[in-house]
Amino acid sequence: MDDWSLGRVALERSGGREGSARLLLVGTLLGGSLSLTPPVLASGIGAATAPSAGVPFDATTVTLQGRLDVLEGDDFTHGRTIDTYELVTDQGSYELSFGRQEPEVAASGSFVTVRGALAGSTITVAANGLTVAASGAAATAGPAITGAKRLAVILINFSDNTSQPFTPAFAAGVAFTNADSAATYYSESSWGKVTLSGDVFGWYTLPNTSETCDWTGWANAADAAAAAAGVNLGTYDYREYAFPYVSSCTWVAGEGQVFGPLSWSNGEMDNRVMAHELGHNFGLAHASGYICIDAGQLVALSATTANCTSDEYGDPFSVMGSSPPIRGLTNFERGRLGWLTAANTLDITTTGVYTLAPVEQYNPTGVQALRIAHGSSSYEMLEFRQPYGTFDSFSTSDPVVNGVTVRLVPSYDTYANTQIIDTTLWTLPGATIARRACVPTGSPMPRLLRVGRSTIRCLASW
Ligand SMILES: [Zn+2]
Repeated sequence: MDDWSLGRVALERSGGREGSARLLLVGTLLGGSLSLTPPVLASGIGAATAPSAGVPFDATTVTLQGRLDVLEGDDFTHGRTIDTYELVTDQGSYELSFGRQEPEVAASGSFVTVRGALAGSTITVAANGLTVAASGAAATAGPAITGAKRLAVILINFSDNTSQPFTPAFAAGVAFTNADSAATYYSESSWGKVTLSGDVFGWYTLPNTSETCDWTGWANAADAAAAAAGVNLGTYDYREYAFPYVSSCTWVAGEGQVFGPLSWSNGEMDNRVMAHELGHNFGLAHASGYICIDAGQLVALSATTANCTSDEYGDPFSVMGSSPPIRGLTNFERGRLGWLTAANTLDITTTGVYTLAPVEQYNPTGVQALRIAHGSSSYEMLEFRQPYGTFDSFSTSDPVVNGVTVRLVPSYDTYANTQIIDTTLWTLPGATIARRACVPTGSPMPRLLRVGRSTIRCLASW
């Protein structure tokens, strides 16, 4: 279980095709072969944009400035995410509507100027009507989440629903004390660079009803109830409001502010929701899967972007993707949160032999992330997993620990979904999700994987 041997990777300039590269990955891989079409950019990777939207006739055109709050609502059951954008001004909060084309990413906490049509408390943003102030640009920088973090879990119910579906002790186990708690998750994934502690408060029955999904109103009322009970919430970095399931919230599981301190759990008190929403609070987007179909055949990448779709939670190797079981954070996510050292990430641009260390153990000098430029603003990023700890408790025969994982990722300072590439689809045609993104043991195929312009060649056992 403790095979911490390293994989050696060689990158060679291919003689056959200008600009192509060959990666030689030396290790225990018993790899597979996959011929891929030229590289394409993953959807969901790129800078924030604010596309046009229709403006109603009877609305008032306004230009307002304030703080942008970005919230990610998670419906794990249906594989759906519900993005909400709010403009917080001195005069109040407004929901921003982008019509049918929401911006894919935006930095929560940015200072923005919004121009659009105001109706009630909703602003329908005009074409190019969202401008991020220069001073807000820093909000897109990779967040450095380190040190002791304090979380308050606040249990609330409503005037029309006073049920208490779990006990405070149960919630404390999920958050802090269970062997697989959210606190353990971040301690393990960050090699101890983040420690999470805190307390559970409530149940508090709010004067509010659950008829509409008024998460902001509920949070304010919950804070007031806690204060009335003598709780000083000012000593906590993050707050999660947990309540019995209510159908008025379209996010079945939870919702979290991106770069913000607040999250909500809709009837689902478990480590997945808690760690996932904290991930949004820390500044992580979703770990998605990339699905491409050319001429009716599943392929890892297609030359035609329209042939590819993103499976929102399609990466089984991160709590920001699909689970259970929940797995430790990816090397990209660890890099984005500031836990990798400069030496841990190596950008490959030339032919050579490189070493890739497992991601699970702290290794300040080893390379745990190999990146190859993919287009102008993203990378193909290689990761090596091994069985370890509470969350990466893979079987030694699990394909993911017998091969490399490849994702299309943005730069560490960009908030955008990562896209895991399915390199095993040829083994399970039509049913690829479960064994995504590794070169599996026992493959009869040549140990060759082409991703974009790179070729990963898996050699003898390591
Ligand atoms: Zn989410």
